[in-house]
Amino acid sequence: MDSIISDSYAVHFNEEAFKALNTHLANKKYSIVFILVDENTHELCLPNFMAEINGEYQFEIIEIESGEINKNIETCVGVWEALSELGADRKSVLINLGGGVLTDMGGFIASTFKRGIDFINVPTTLLSMVDASVGGKTGIDLGALKNQVGVINQPAMVLVVPDFLDTLENRQIISGFAEMLKHGLIKDKTYWEALKEAQSLEHMKSHILTSIQIKNEVVLKDPTEQNIRKILNYGHTLGHAIESYFLENASKEMLLHGEAIAVGMILEGYLSHKLLGLSEQSLEDIKSTFLNKYDKVEFIDTDIENILKLMKYDKKNSHGKVNFVLLKNIGEPVVDVEIPIELFTDAFAYYKV
Ligand code: NAD
Repeated sequence: MDSIISDSYAVHFNEEAFKALNTHLANKKYSIVFILVDENTHELCLPNFMAEINGEYQFEIIEIESGEINKNIETCVGVWEALSELGADRKSVLINLGGGVLTDMGGFIASTFKRGIDFINVPTTLLSMVDASVGGKTGIDLGALKNQVGVINQPAMVLVVPDFLDTLENRQIISGFAEMLKHGLIKDKTYWEALKEAQSLEHMKSHILTSIQIKNEVVLKDPTEQNIRKILNYGHTLGHAIESYFLENASKEMLLHGEAIAVGMILEGYLSHKLLGLSEQSLEDIKSTFLNKYDKVEFIDTDIENILKLMKYDKKNSHGKVNFVLLKNIGEPVVDVEIPIELFTDAFAYYKV
């Protein structure tokens, strides 16, 4: 299979991706084709991308600085101004060539510029291929608070070309792999078992399609996250708070998104064991699988207090309550679980030993 159909758009793979893009560009007759890159994707991905385009179009390249720290309104203003100065109109298109930071922010910039222009996601990290570029969530951070401002809006198409991963550093690959492991945990025990065996990049690449199918299936059932889509947040309620805390704390080494949610998935595994009867064996399986792949993160008591404070800003909260997605079994999630406060400290204690 070379394409997955989502609600209003398709995700195209490999050779199919560039064929679909060339047809789309020829049909749409965009006034200007803007390509948003960061300094890394400019150098490492743009030349290969451009080499695949047939036909004569007016291209304009806009470069932003890479990094979660730049996923903010100041960067958006810079890009909106560049679009304006370069003559973008409502018939222009923005192609987002980069990782999740760039596709989240580029999607938001396009969705709000002149009340919305088309955008196309071309994810170049594993995380953005299997997760960020599919599902229509776009947005930026507000200070250290992750993804506080944004809209749900679908791209015109998503192009997944796994060979872009060949230049990505290993730490980033492993970070993206955490989202794939999550897909196994929330949807399919057999997939979880298969992923545990995946050691090489080639092996991981071979599972990308399955992960996108799982995410797409969930998003199609519940695009605006009223219910089932919440299962994709497994590990993220604590994981996002941990990520935000490490991002805003200059004395801490920054954690990548997948590294933070890997910790979140162990902690939320513990809560699942205590509250929903996830078996001890499954809990140990989750902990050992993640600790095999991800370095253990040190937390002191004040870290934990601050992380729990940050958790109250999570977007999934409502009516002042923090809601969790937990697991009854591997592959069987339950949404909207409330947690007795004392269990959080126990969960961190379990992570630490
Ligand atoms: P990222 O976008 O910061 O990319 C990581 C680094 O890799 C950057 O320095 C980038 O320049 C570089 N890079 C990108 N492609 C490369 C390539 N092919 N070769 C070499 N270097 C390359 O990080 P990420 O992990 O892709 O994305 C994280 C973001 O995704 C977070 O902001 C998170 O909130 C967001 N996210 C969004 C969703 C969603 O549904 N919208 C889901 C999950 C995560």
